[in-house]
Amino acid sequence: MNQNSVTKVAGNTIDRSITMRSEVENAGQRLARRPWPTTPIRPGIDVSFEFFPPASPSASDQLAECVSQLAPLAPRFMSVTYGAGGTTQDRTIHVIEELGSSTGVPIAGHLTCVGANRATVDKVIDRYASAGVNHIVALRGDLPKDRTNDVHNNTYQDAAALVAAIRSKFPSESFEISVAAYPETHPMATSPEADIENLKRKIDAGATRAITQYFFDNNHFLRFLERARGAGIAVPIVPGIMPVTNFASIARFSERCGTSIPSWLPDLFGGLDAMPEVGNLVAATVAAEQCRELVEHGVREFHFYTMNRPQLSLATCHILGVRPNVTATTTQAVAS
Ligand code: FAD
Repeated sequence: MNQNSVTKVAGNTIDRSITMRSEVENAGQRLARRPWPTTPIRPGIDVSFEFFPPASPSASDQLAECVSQLAPLAPRFMSVTYGAGGTTQDRTIHVIEELGSSTGVPIAGHLTCVGANRATVDKVIDRYASAGVNHIVALRGDLPKDRTNDVHNNTYQDAAALVAAIRSKFPSESFEISVAAYPETHPMATSPEADIENLKRKIDAGATRAITQYFFDNNHFLRFLERARGAGIAVPIVPGIMPVTNFASIARFSERCGTSIPSWLPDLFGGLDAMPEVGNLVAATVAAEQCRELVEHGVREFHFYTMNRPQLSLATCHILGVRPNVTATTTQAVAS
């Protein structure tokens, strides 16, 4: 035994070469568990992309560019948000009609019920259906600040009531209904348990999938998944991934929607304000790392909040092996 490799810790003689060997073995095992970098192409990963309806001609061009880059990845669906209280109603429906006819990708229409009477909401459901939509992301929504007193008597009072109304119109499960879920608990929920119960009510009313609020610490999602499964929620729970296009605005928005910012995140984006290209490289790395870790935990489906910008979602998908023109056969061949 090499004398240099022996050390004394708390009165015990320890052979450092053995300690080092086991550290190397541990690190090796950790690396072997990771899909990276030996098997960059993972078969069986599904993605979906969320857009918001544009408010100006230049924003329309940006959305068209975004869709033209992301649609070839053959996402499971692309969804279009809806301004609570009907603030983007016509624009949302217009975008849905355009995307449905131009891309061939299934389109999901978001729909909120807060501040709108039932007849109005029912009409939007019918307009979605006549535009060929067979997937609604059903939400309560939040009224804009200037309309907080805007109370109607005859509303669907929450997302669960909206889900029940949609399901009664479209009883077949081939009509999909997704709902929102909150790994870090909705800011207005009375407790994490009540929030999970609320999610269960939405599923029991007929929802077929939950899409989560975005989060940066995967532990929140993994613990939430465990609690949801423990509460008897069996539908897919798809993590919402927010690539960080602008750290300052994401930090502000996160405060309002209850997403915590881990201490390492500001540090990563610190000093990059004047270097947006570098910021994008960092953002793609962060999102890809986040997804890869979730893949290691068995997650196979991701919903990207694109903010109508394709690059970061595209880069993350590319790293995950979700690419245009990769047929199932090619994917299998590359992975094996
Ligand atoms: P619900 O499921 O009805 O409620 C969620 C939780 O919040 C429950 O715990 C409930 O008890 C609590 N809660 C909600 N409101 C209140 C209240 N007033 N008082 C007390 N407790 C309350 N918003 C849009 O406007 N347009 C969109 O297109 C849109 N898309 C979204 C997509 C996803 C995937 C997600 C995660 C969110 C989206 N949102 C959107 C935001 C969403 O509308 C808000 O988070 C809203 O506050 C709650 O909607 P919900 O459907 O989850 O409500």
